[in-house]
Amino acid sequence: MALTAEKRDPETASAARRRSVSVLGSTGSIGVSTLDLIEREREKYDLVAVTAHKNVTSLIEQARRLRPQLAVIGDTLLYDELKAGLEGTGIEIAAGRDAVIEAALRPADWVMAGIVGTAGLAPTLAAVRRGAAVALANKECLVSAGSLFLAEVSRSGATLLPVDSEHNAIFQVLEADRLHTVDRIILTASGGPFRTWSREDMAKATPKQAVAHPRWDMGAKISVDSATLMNKGLELIEAHNLFPFGEPRIEIIIHPESIIHSMVGYVDGSVLAQLGSPDMRTPISYALAWPNRMPTPCARLNLAEIGKLTFEEPDPARFPALRLAREALKAGGAAPTILNAANEIAVAAFLGGHIGFLDIATIVESVLSKSNSVTRAPLDLEEIYEIDRIARNCAEELVQLASR
Ligand code: NDP
Repeated sequence: MALTAEKRDPETASAARRRSVSVLGSTGSIGVSTLDLIEREREKYDLVAVTAHKNVTSLIEQARRLRPQLAVIGDTLLYDELKAGLEGTGIEIAAGRDAVIEAALRPADWVMAGIVGTAGLAPTLAAVRRGAAVALANKECLVSAGSLFLAEVSRSGATLLPVDSEHNAIFQVLEADRLHTVDRIILTASGGPFRTWSREDMAKATPKQAVAHPRWDMGAKISVDSATLMNKGLELIEAHNLFPFGEPRIEIIIHPESIIHSMVGYVDGSVLAQLGSPDMRTPISYALAWPNRMPTPCARLNLAEIGKLTFEEPDPARFPALRLAREALKAGGAAPTILNAANEIAVAAFLGGHIGFLDIATIVESVLSKSNSVTRAPLDLEEIYEIDRIARNCAEELVQLASR
């Protein structure tokens, strides 16, 4: 398992001293929530680096407010704007893909991996390789490059702190020193905005409808993933890589209220759950203050007001993405890398208005079936990028064919 045994020891030295932190993807949904928490206990944290891709206005505003040592914009065309915006502040600035990796390499104790998609892979891996505590929001890293990622964690001694609410919930209720007593883990899924929709209605769904998640306020890509249930498929693979229980022992259940964030079942029949209001600041705070806890402004649960919690089985006929992800996990080798790459292209095409909602899973399935000869797990970053590139090209061709 990637998590360290330190989990249960609240008396570590890191709990007492100021913690230096970097936030990769600071302008995104996860990044903004992370900075919000840091700002609430400003005296406890030294902000080393913040990074964005194109949103230079937000990056400038964040840097002026929180005074990191370094602010990086991924898009080199925006360097001059960043420079002008931070003139006279003394904040170091940089631009480009390598500069984002540089930001991850800066010696911060704790790094939030909040970049979306495969773009987050190299920076997150850079933080892992230097042995940092990495708060992992970017699930695509563990899906696309699971074996490499875990090998680097164990080689460097880095600590992975799961931020995805489901994995964070499991992290909170898992009796890490008695793993042999675990029977199964149960990931909950809200079911997304189309939980009750027919396939016919989903065929006509617009990007605006798909990103309007009923419970969570998230970035566009993960919101579409939640609507297709691919998000839960990616989380299944993520859970498989984070926790040592094997694919058959990871169950998924739809829980529309999003109050229980996941559960661990034990051999005696007990099931331990973590509950909370659907606000990412709870799992982020758990990773930020770990091994302690910190106060957050998240709404307190009023169970009497909520009244009842409901559960249902996922419907594989209406939501094939979940099946595709489980098949990719079982197939192993390069299949999860291909699944992730094809999905990123298909989701971007859907958000751009080029394909329909149902085309997303169809394209992912076609790319997987065309690539089923690639059976070996990629060994290094170059190999992952090569498989990723081929799968993206294949998905792009299918997008062209499906384009309206
Ligand atoms: P957003 O789209 O809101 O933010 C993404 C961040 O990554 C932004 O800061 C963006 O910069 C930056 N970014 C985008 N592309 C690149 C690139 N090519 N190079 C460098 N930086 C880039 O995403 P979320 O915050 O919603 O999600 C982030 C990650 O966390 C995802 O992997 C998601 O699956 C995961 N996650 C998110 C949850 C949520 O509630 N949002 C919950 C659980 C997991 P810019 O703003 O300039 O474009």
